Order: sequence, then C-alpha cells, then structure tokens
Amino acid sequence: MPELPEVEHLRRSLEPTLVGSLVTKAMLHRPDVLESPSGSVQDPERALLADARVTGLRRHGKQLAVISSDGRALRIHLGMSGRVDVAPWPERPSGDPAATHCHAAWQVRKTDGSTWWMGFRDPRRFGGLLALATPDELAELWRPLGPDAHLARPEDAVDALRGRRRQAKAALLDQAVLAGVGNIYADEALFAAGVHPLMSLHRLREPALVRLIAELQRILRAAIASGGSSLRDYRDASGAPGWFQTEHAVYGRGGLPCRVCGALLKESTVAGRTTSHCPRCQTRRPARSSCR
Ligand SMILES: [Zn+2]
Repeated sequence: MPELPEVEHLRRSLEPTLVGSLVTKAMLHRPDVLESPSGSVQDPERALLADARVTGLRRHGKQLAVISSDGRALRIHLGMSGRVDVAPWPERPSGDPAATHCHAAWQVRKTDGSTWWMGFRDPRRFGGLLALATPDELAELWRPLGPDAHLARPEDAVDALRGRRRQAKAALLDQAVLAGVGNIYADEALFAAGVHPLMSLHRLREPALVRLIAELQRILRAAIASGGSSLRDYRDASGAPGWFQTEHAVYGRGGLPCRVCGALLKESTVAGRTTSHCPRCQTRRPARSSCR
C-alpha cells in the first residue's frame, strides 16, 4: 500500500502538469469510486473539478487533494493499488495498459496551451475519490489525522508520541497519532532507531524518542527522493517505479541476516501487520544504544 513517500512523490510528479492548469473535461467511468462527505454526488463532472483552475496539490499523510481556485477540492486515496497517470492528450487508447481499470479521467489545459490527459485507476478498488465542495470540508476530513510525519517539526512529532502507553509499532501505524507511516516505514524507522516494535512508547526516554523521529524523518526524506518503494503496483504520474525497496533494511527481510549485525531477522505479527525486526539491534529496553 502506498505510504507517505509514495504519495508525496506522486504529488511532486503531478505538479508540473496540474498546478495552474484548467480542467477542461472530467469523465467518470465508474460511478462508485466517487463519493462526497454526504455520500452521494449530484453532479459528477462538477465534483471532479470540471471548469476549475487547479491551484495546488496538498498531501496529508497518505492522502492527496487537488485544490481548485473556487474552493472545490478532490481528495485522492490510492488504497492498495491506485494510480494517477498523466500523458499528453489525446486520451490513451483502450489497448494501453494505463487505460485499463481507468475509473475517472480528465482533460486539462496547461498555461502553455498544451492539453494533457490524467487518469485515475485502481484495479483492487480499495482507493477512491472524494469530492469536497469547500476548503472547510477538506479541513474537516483531515482533522482526525495526526501531524504529517514528513512535514511536522521534529519536536511536534516527538510530542505526538511522548508518553503513549502503546507499542511503538502500533502507535506509528495509527494515522491519528502521526499521519503517513505504514508498515514499511514503521519497520525501517524502528530498526534504524534500535527500538523493538513491541516497546511501549512511555518507557522510551526522551533521547530515544528524539532519535526515533529523527530516523523516521530521515528515512521518509530518502524514500521520497528515491521515488518511494514499488512493491507491487506503485508508479508515479509518468509510470516510473520507485526504487527505495532496494534500501529496506528489515521490511520484507524476515529470516535473512541483519545488514548491521548478521543476526537473523525475526518476523512476527504486531498490530495485525507482518513485522520484521532484528533481535540484536532492536531491544525493548529503553535508551540502550543499538549496535549501529
Ligand atoms: Zn542487527
């Protein structure tokens, strides 16, 4: 599932095409991918920002929103397999892989006069589009989310974790605590900080918490710069995969030797998710330095 780095990289790869552009056409091919906060959508073309000028692309956690000059916004949730592609108009032919499972499509005109196609597709259909009529509706939607794990000041991210009587891995996965971290980057950050996934956060001393956030934000920055991790379907707007998966130290490496100490990495289930950790580098005991 795309996490913060993948969504942020997608956001950046869409910006050159979308920001400043006029949405000249909006087409909904599969009505049930589009919702509004009240449920139903009266006018799908308007909900998909037809005739709007795009002023920005905002991201909070794993969610992306296209913002228009008249206050309308469209929240894009990638779910497991969602993708947003752009290509020069005309629309991609039906035989093109990018046109398969295309649930919604747009024609946009850039300020330089060129015309582009954008498509949203989601073969496994865990993602979707949410039409928001006003900036307040977007603010309301994102209110339950914790600070964005990448954009938050380190001290604010530490505040979000401090004192919680919860296992570190479970807290990192909770979008109401910190938004954007999923299974990959939770495992990688805990390993880099030497924190056992089951360690309760309230038992971590301040320097260990500070280190955990520093490692998390360092890894998120590196992953964004690498185009994210492409485990299955993730591609950016131009169809390019990310390559941060080659940098994973623990995620998906259960049973393989730790790249730092050589111990065999353990795989277990924490907070309902498959979790990999190094039994030697990641200790439950607070403030003990890891072997890195
Ligand atoms: Zn190790």
